[in-house]
Amino acid sequence: MSTCLFCQIAEGQLNAKKVFEDDRCLAFDDVNPQAPVHTLVIPKRHVSSLNEFQANDTELLGHLLQTCRQVAKEKGVADSGYRTVINTGHEAGQTVFHVHVHVLGGRTCQWPPG
Ligand code: AMP
Ligand code: ZN
Repeated sequence: MSTCLFCQIAEGQLNAKKVFEDDRCLAFDDVNPQAPVHTLVIPKRHVSSLNEFQANDTELLGHLLQTCRQVAKEKGVADSGYRTVINTGHEAGQTVFHVHVHVLGGRTCQWPPG
């Protein structure tokens, strides 16, 4: 069994509230939501952070954002607004080292973020 939490979710070894899935990516609700809508979008392939994507991963990166767009629409926040966040590394607050895009919506977000 993988030692990576999000690989375990991608492989069905750990439960998550799935929002969307296809051959390349998975979206599931964050277990500790910071907004009424808080969904994480991950590649199924293990990539530890944004730093670890390769030059030929441009299509996959685009697909992750397209999935965020779709998630926002399905969650009903596409028009009201939502924030997409990728925390990379310790100082940015990354705690799970399998890259993920946070999709946050359903409330007014502050700027600049903390
Ligand atoms: P980050 O701090 O950017 O690495 O975000 C990691 C996110 O993963 C946090 O928002 C956590 O609440 C979330 N998280 C951790 N474990 C799980 C889990 N088992 N299922 C869903 N979300 C999780
Ligand atoms: Zn992983």
